[in-house]
Amino acid sequence: MSAKKAYEELKQCCREISLLASCAGVLGWDERTYMPRGGANLRADQLSLLSGMIHEKFTDPRVGELLSTLEASDLVKDEDSPEAANIRETRHQFDKATKLPKDLVEEITKTTTLAQGEWVTARKNNDFKHFQPWLDKVLTLQIRKADAYGYVGEPYNALLDNYEVGATVDEIVDVFEKLRKELVVLLKKIKDAPKRPDVSIVERDYDVNLQKVFGESVAQAMGYSFETGRLDTTTHPFCTGLGPGDTRITTRYNPKRLNDALFGIMHEAGHGLYEMGLNKEEDFGMPTAESASLGIHESQSRMWENQVGRSKAFWKYFFPQAQRIFKESLSGVSLDDFYAAINNVTPSYIRVEADEATYNLHILLRFELERAMLKGDLKPADVPGEWNRRFKDYFGLEVKSDADGCLQDVHWSAGYMGYFPTYALGNLYSAQFFARAQKDMPDLMSQFEQGTLSNLRQWLKENIHQHGTRYRAAKLVQKVTGQPLSHQPLIDYMTAKFQEIYGF
Ligand code: ZN
Repeated sequence: MSAKKAYEELKQCCREISLLASCAGVLGWDERTYMPRGGANLRADQLSLLSGMIHEKFTDPRVGELLSTLEASDLVKDEDSPEAANIRETRHQFDKATKLPKDLVEEITKTTTLAQGEWVTARKNNDFKHFQPWLDKVLTLQIRKADAYGYVGEPYNALLDNYEVGATVDEIVDVFEKLRKELVVLLKKIKDAPKRPDVSIVERDYDVNLQKVFGESVAQAMGYSFETGRLDTTTHPFCTGLGPGDTRITTRYNPKRLNDALFGIMHEAGHGLYEMGLNKEEDFGMPTAESASLGIHESQSRMWENQVGRSKAFWKYFFPQAQRIFKESLSGVSLDDFYAAINNVTPSYIRVEADEATYNLHILLRFELERAMLKGDLKPADVPGEWNRRFKDYFGLEVKSDADGCLQDVHWSAGYMGYFPTYALGNLYSAQFFARAQKDMPDLMSQFEQGTLSNLRQWLKENIHQHGTRYRAAKLVQKVTGQPLSHQPLIDYMTAKFQEIYGF
């Protein structure tokens, strides 16, 4: 069989798999937005049928045969060509999908479904002991999963690869350690600083309908298209790229706080722009039409949320508009005071409520603990003690309840070990990409002052979005910025910003 034919057949197969996956995507979106509660059992059956069909189709030996033919062809000669990337990444996913024995997959699904329920109870009652046997079980299964995948170095690498393809602990641990040290110093400076933002400015009455109007206008200015996208309301905001021409985001509104929905919309629209910028029209189903990694995805959302949405340049243009819309709550407020309020830093217990400066410390702590658990250096029974000790060390806060400590996240009960680092990687990548964008477009901040966000969007599309998984994350960062992953751009950006706001 000719390589050209094999490639076409593989492309057709991947396209059909993606069509099935997008059906699951629509059902998943509906489940989280409009489905009546009574539909839960039917929805679970629909989704599990689809996921079984997808798995069967993808692990068909025919896919392996096509890949072998292609791997022996000229198509893989230039490793950076889109064809070579598609063959490489499909092989990677195929091997992973075929390596897990069926009984292990089923046991993981069953255990994590139960563990999530037990976690909810344990968190509600602040009862770690109740959750501990479940954490033991999940951990054992995660280690079995890592063993089934196989890995170089430590088991963590096998799980990290599920979310950040090709990344290894060795690559990131050194950057994380440097980041942690610098963040602790920065937080100390902020804590001892003379100035304090007045956060009450953003904690007044903000009419939900007006928030929606304002949020949509900001998303539109970012380039988020309402022709090919939607914005709906959910308790847990998310973005889903269903396929060509259909990307959806959600947010939640708090009538007493401006930040939640506004920065939530910018965050999700940032994810949405990535999905809209992928080459889905031509390559739907192929890895080059999919995001490079969760970390790269998160870099897009965090850049729009923080580097853009929490910059003074952005608000020079948008603040007068916000003042016109939220007449009562923002009248008489200065731009500087508003800017300080949206950038307030306060160490707190809960990750999802954390500000830009403390957020990464929450992640690093989790990364360190799950890595130690997977290595066998930390027993689940000792997690609360170790959590609290490190929390005091990093944040200067005493953890008084496990519900606000090691029981706060769903991830471990759901079997998502190896996921947390992608949040911190997203922040690191976002700062590194943004520094590069500023170098390429020296007047970028003055463009923001005029309300022009389209050039940044175009830059992201050209440099990041259109490639999909053509380059894995580490290579993409090197290619775009000319540097390997580093903690420095993020620290430089935060130091400059918070120095001005806090006057240290
Ligand atoms: Zn995100």
